[in-house]
Amino acid sequence: MEMPVPSQHRLDRKSELVLRLRAILPADCVIDDPMETRAYECDALSAYRCPPMAVVLPYTTEQVAQTLKICHDLNIPVVPRGSGTSLAGGAMPTSDSIILGVSRMNDVLDTDYDNRVIRVQTGRTNLSVTGAVEADGFFYAPDPSSQLACAIAGNIAMNSGGAHCLKYGVTSNNLLGVRIVTMQGDILDIGGAHLDAPDLDLLGVICGSEGQLGIVTEATLRIIHKPEGALPVLLGFDSNEVAGACVSDIIRAGVLPVAIEFMDRPCIRATEDFAKAGYPDCEALLIIEVEGSPIEIEEQLEKILAIAATHNPVEMRRANDLQEAARIWLGRKSAFGAMGQINDYMCLDGTIPVSKLPYVLKRIGEMSREFGLGVGNVFHAGDGNMHPLILYNANEPGELEKCEAFGAEILKLCVEVGGCLTGEHGVGIEKRDLMDHQFTRDDLIAQMNIKDVFDPAWLLNPAKVFPLDASASRRDGGM
Ligand SMILES: Cc1cc2nc3c(=O)[nH]c(=O)nc-3n(C[C@H](O)[C@H](O)[C@H](O)COP(=O)(O)OP(=O)(O)OC[C@H]3O[C@@H](n4cnc5c(N)ncnc54)[C@H](O)[C@@H]3O)c2cc1C
Repeated sequence: MEMPVPSQHRLDRKSELVLRLRAILPADCVIDDPMETRAYECDALSAYRCPPMAVVLPYTTEQVAQTLKICHDLNIPVVPRGSGTSLAGGAMPTSDSIILGVSRMNDVLDTDYDNRVIRVQTGRTNLSVTGAVEADGFFYAPDPSSQLACAIAGNIAMNSGGAHCLKYGVTSNNLLGVRIVTMQGDILDIGGAHLDAPDLDLLGVICGSEGQLGIVTEATLRIIHKPEGALPVLLGFDSNEVAGACVSDIIRAGVLPVAIEFMDRPCIRATEDFAKAGYPDCEALLIIEVEGSPIEIEEQLEKILAIAATHNPVEMRRANDLQEAARIWLGRKSAFGAMGQINDYMCLDGTIPVSKLPYVLKRIGEMSREFGLGVGNVFHAGDGNMHPLILYNANEPGELEKCEAFGAEILKLCVEVGGCLTGEHGVGIEKRDLMDHQFTRDDLIAQMNIKDVFDPAWLLNPAKVFPLDASASRRDGGM
């Protein structure tokens, strides 16, 4: 994976930069000791690493604005960071940039149950947004599996999703407004505690923009009343394709479960060893959760079980109480950790039309044999968001490159069948060089024109999202 050569001119300005930052920020906000900046050298795509020149951890939006003004003045690139759980390398720095992390900005600013909104600083973790309102019967719906750690900042930048987004939508469907600071240090409020903007939908531009347009410091989020109840059912099948076909049939029948999660044999085995959730010995399993009143739950489960029965399942297990429900979810929630225990892996993220699941799963199996690398599939099947986990040995020379090539072929397949390079993890550096498979150069130029408006000097999160050759003249313009 190629990154631009660092600018010596910028590296030479480190002392001046740190002096100026220390003059306006509390002492504990600026880190420049190389031993400490190493903690920020990567995100959860840990195959790629590069420590930044310095790290700034402000407490307020005003401090973010002052930091950005200084960096703009000195022509220093800035990489925004929430909790650093990106799987696409979105928060990885370059050696001539600084990290600007919002993790200390984690307050709840306002809670309005009458209008079902909450305003938070974006360093707040996803799960702790629900934590702030659950005692009053509310929750924040988007639920990335990393929700204990990931911040609302990164959720907005990546337009993150999660298991329950089949029913409630992803971040963009639950975000009402943001406070954002531009690279020039201007503070803008976009959207607010209301449904739709009267003018251009700039919120739609900001959500999913991967730190390219500004630093988001506050967010107004929709909160939802907790449903009366929810119950999952676990279905086991003797092939991936049959499980995929069952998902297509459920969606086609018009049932809208809150989640449909898929795991194949390698993931089932790994999670059984790790979490001992009591999963059946089968090729593929689905966890399908429905919610509502007891009557609504019964009605939906009946339809789902009837559809599943037509696919000859090897197991149909419904939870009857909260304990059984937790046991069904236990394995799925520990799947990524469990896979990490047995092997190095690269987690991919692409989206396909649900009806193509059986074909794509079959092709991934064939490609796995062609590349000689194992692959486990665990993903949000209801919305076609796939997460193949390619297993490789990071200590074996050449395996990472082979893994990258296999991953690229899977993502190209997603585009080929009418899907998309990303589902919820974003483009970052991971998929940057594949963007040409999804977009024409004119498409990419149109997207880069938008960045020109917000960040004319191209200092925010450099060398991400756009193929390096497409963005070269813009990135070099500010040198
Ligand atoms: C085990 C595991 C499971 C995961 N499961 C899911 C899942 O189910 N669904 C899902 O969608 N993702 C998932 N992820 C990926 C990741 O958690 C999400 O992308 C998450 O939203 C990143 O949030 P973060 O705060 O860690 O952001 P970071 O990793 O810090 O940054 C992510 C991106 O956001 C930008 N950014 C950060 N802060 C700001 C800001 N204040 N303003 C502007 N841009 C900013 C960064 O520059 C970067 O491009 C998972 C990751 C792991 C490790």
